[in-house]
Amino acid sequence: MKLYIFSGSLASGKGTQASLITKFLPNAVHLSTGEIFRAEIEAGTEIGKKAKALIDVGTLVPDDSTNAIVVSFLEALDPTSNVLLDGYPRNEAQVAFLEQYVQEKNHTIEKVILLDLDESVVKKRVLGRFECRHCHVMYNDFFKPTKREGVCDVCGSKEFYRRPSDTEKTIEKRLALYRNTIVKALSFYENKDNFVRIDANKSPSEVFKEIKEKVFKNSEIKGNSDKN
Ligand SMILES: [Zn+2]
Repeated sequence: MKLYIFSGSLASGKGTQASLITKFLPNAVHLSTGEIFRAEIEAGTEIGKKAKALIDVGTLVPDDSTNAIVVSFLEALDPTSNVLLDGYPRNEAQVAFLEQYVQEKNHTIEKVILLDLDESVVKKRVLGRFECRHCHVMYNDFFKPTKREGVCDVCGSKEFYRRPSDTEKTIEKRLALYRNTIVKALSFYENKDNFVRIDANKSPSEVFKEIKEKVFKNSEIKGNSDKN
């Protein structure tokens, strides 16, 4: 099994890129730990109940539970799968666990992909985003405003929604967490051959193009550049 670690700060678009890659890479599976936790919570499993209790009080899910979820997911897959890890590993303990697990199972960490985004762009992407309350189209004050101020381009609604957590203070906190845990954890890979840094300040299609060139050398990807 080949693993690809997709990492990056909030608003780096790593989930979007990982799901784009699954459409092109043979036997690709997108493993988003955030989505798995949401699904477990919805299904009311033991893991889901534990995770929900922690998330409700604002605590991160402990490494043991996260590692266990990732392992049970991987073990259910076909051994020829190409797995895109999104949101995992996110600290030094998880990196250490994954490294040991991969060795034991003879899997390989094919690439570690860091979507690198300037903090000023992160702030604009997060602070500027809002969505139409009716048709849920996303806009951004800086990058994609509505054509007529206060009116949705698609459905004409005048009601919009901004996430209450999209504040300067929360972003600072999340960026600090990113610098202090994820970036630190990935420094383990930084000087290795499988580490690839991608400039994520560009548009999603340009970022995707760079990933195809640098990560997959365009070779393993079906349909090359005729899409996106
Ligand atoms: Zn709308």
